[in-house]
Amino acid sequence: MLILGIESTAHTFGIGIFDGKILADARSVYKPLKGGIHPAEAAKHHENAKEEILAKALNEAGIGLSDLDLLAYAAGPGLPPCLRVGLDFVKKLRRETKKPVVAVNHPVAHIEIAKMLTKAKDPVVLYTSGGNTQVIGYASGRYRVFGETQDIAVGNAIDTFIRETVGGYPGGPAMEHLASKGRNYIELPYVVKGMDLSFSGILTAAMEKYKRGADISDLCFSFQETCYAMLTEVTERALAHSEKKEVLLTGGVAASERLQEMISIMCKERNASAFLCPKEYSGDNGIMIAVAGFLAYRSGHRTKKLDFDSKWRVDEAEIMWMEG
Ligand code: AMP
Ligand code: MG
Repeated sequence: MLILGIESTAHTFGIGIFDGKILADARSVYKPLKGGIHPAEAAKHHENAKEEILAKALNEAGIGLSDLDLLAYAAGPGLPPCLRVGLDFVKKLRRETKKPVVAVNHPVAHIEIAKMLTKAKDPVVLYTSGGNTQVIGYASGRYRVFGETQDIAVGNAIDTFIRETVGGYPGGPAMEHLASKGRNYIELPYVVKGMDLSFSGILTAAMEKYKRGADISDLCFSFQETCYAMLTEVTERALAHSEKKEVLLTGGVAASERLQEMISIMCKERNASAFLCPKEYSGDNGIMIAVAGFLAYRSGHRTKKLDFDSKWRVDEAEIMWMEG
């Protein structure tokens, strides 16, 4: 079965082609000239990129549109103007191919590609990206959210801090580089409330300390230590409650070596296995949409109405392929 997946929820327009193996993975990433993602500009980027990315993906896979068996698209959550581009594009491809279409939940896709690549079976998932921070685990038909951020995503906090201090986007790699030179821990608010987290207070406090002259490397070091310790604490508690034996790290922030290290140490201490999604596939891409679309279709899911839902939570998506 040959599946084409379309990702367009935020900064990336991606098309992946999958048939049990990754045949093509074409992407174009919108980079804001100034400030954070501007939804209308990101959508314009996707609009301009879509045909070229499709051609690139088909060429890479060595197939034509008529060879496809199934189309999948990311239907949410995400930025409405960006989701609209993906939806309109899949509708156009459906008219041209007459093939079935499956709507995919974007976080579910992040989880499924990471599981496929790492061979994790039933993990506690730490999903940390530019727009999401959730600790997730499967239970009776759904990916349940054990804990999540109450305000901004950890990746957003990192990106904003770097943008407002040394400049540039994305902030993660720059923060990691600066943090490696930091030596002194500067106290920042560690905010874990039950199973939930908050990152906006850390951002505000770090900005204030920067303005008062604190060393940027020490601040980045402290920012990382604080945020990643919070994430590791909540993940550990989810592991204990759920009695699962695996932790899977995915989303763009999963590329952080320090976060990987903290999660790995925690897992070792609990006799659990840590799985790290390979860097190339931990950020947004079309392959993950194709993989999740394939799983849904194979287990009998049929999408009736093609639409998008910018607030579609991971725990609202029906998961039919996990039991048995
Ligand atoms: P995504 O939204 O899943 O594409 O992930 C993008 C986010 O990952 C951005 O907030 C980046 O700053 C973050 N990111 C990328 N690389 C790293 C890294 N090495 N350390 C921390 N965050 C990172
Ligand atoms: Mg994402």
